[in-house]
Amino acid sequence: MKSKYYLAWATDDEIRKRGANGGFVTATLVSALETGFIDLAVVIEKKSVYEGIPILTSDPEVVKDSSGSLHGVPLNLAKYVLESAPDKRIGLPVKPCDARGIIELAKRQQINLNNVYLIGLNCGGTLHPLQMRAMAAECFGLDPDSVLREEITDGKLFLVHEAEGTEKEAGMKIDELERQGRGRRDACKACDTKIPVMADLACGNWGVPQGEQKTFVEVLTEKGAAILDNALSNGAIEIENASEQGIELRKKIEASMQKLAARWNAELDVLKDLSPSERFAFYKAELQRCIHCGACKAVCPVCACEADAKCLEQHDETDSYAISMYNLLRLLHLMDSCIHCGRCEDVCPVDIPLTLIQRRFSERMQRHLDYTPGMEVTQTPPLNETKLRWRAEGE
Ligand code: SF4
Ligand code: SF4
Ligand code: SF4
Repeated sequence: MKSKYYLAWATDDEIRKRGANGGFVTATLVSALETGFIDLAVVIEKKSVYEGIPILTSDPEVVKDSSGSLHGVPLNLAKYVLESAPDKRIGLPVKPCDARGIIELAKRQQINLNNVYLIGLNCGGTLHPLQMRAMAAECFGLDPDSVLREEITDGKLFLVHEAEGTEKEAGMKIDELERQGRGRRDACKACDTKIPVMADLACGNWGVPQGEQKTFVEVLTEKGAAILDNALSNGAIEIENASEQGIELRKKIEASMQKLAARWNAELDVLKDLSPSERFAFYKAELQRCIHCGACKAVCPVCACEADAKCLEQHDETDSYAISMYNLLRLLHLMDSCIHCGRCEDVCPVDIPLTLIQRRFSERMQRHLDYTPGMEVTQTPPLNETKLRWRAEGE
């Protein structure tokens, strides 16, 4: 293997049919498990169009059953890897924000990255499950429970649903949905990390000739080359070199998505034209609705403190500040490390626009510090101050 860019596909007919883009990712993980190259895989078990559950498995059949894509489940897998056996070799498909969260946890000595094989997936964005249900009803006029499958192709969201005993398909342009305040999560609209260049492999269909069921694969690390080689030697996949046109096309698609993200980033920043006192009034009005449930901390992939975290220790619920120390400390502590994945906002029960608020503080700081979190494991977070869960003092 000399090239860095390949087109690859599964040799197994069933995997090729069920998996996205010729089943390369599924076949590679299955091969890694079957040959003992990895001990475990983290995959998303699909429960419905709107629900998927991350599972840790050593069973190749479970990996096969979970093949295919799911846009309605905006999980960040970083903390699931953290909870998994730390001494096992784990392989998993990751979105760029999953990979970035995992790399930030590795920097905080929570994960041994040498044991983790990150099979990156190009990502155009995800949709919040609840908003997706509402969209199915209000924009597509469908019973959300009748939706059997979803697919995003050529900028359109397609919902396959059951009507009068037969399957029917309804499609709408994502751009049109987003103009109506629907579509992808705000974090995804503004996210410009579309190809997971921080993972071991970057996979997707950008750059694949039209009509071909193959995956465009970029090999980014030695680990990436090793897991690909394992699948190849095991006869689980076939590969061919990607063409120059394919490589160029992939770059062009990435650039146009990044341009769109920059536009959304500016549009979503509803605070940019306000005066400082108006901005303060916004922060106060939003953050004083916090009920201190702790959900944002629990899911945050770059937050690695335990129960003695400063945001928890220094927050007293009997204090009646309009903005609690909990939120102020979280804003401060995440300024260098927030990867803008939007998980905190997804789970906030009182709908505080946490992505916008975190982004406003951290983007400026990260530019100032010349630091992009989650991209390079050797770069230490400049303001890192955590009380780690394991591998704390003494290890
Ligand atoms: S934040 Fe970026 S990487 Fe993560 S799901 Fe959204 S678009 Fe994908
Ligand atoms: S603060 Fe929110 S947006 Fe930032 S990394 Fe944590 S969960 Fe993601
Ligand atoms: S999830 Fe929302 S309500 Fe809960 S602690 Fe975080 S900001 Fe407060």
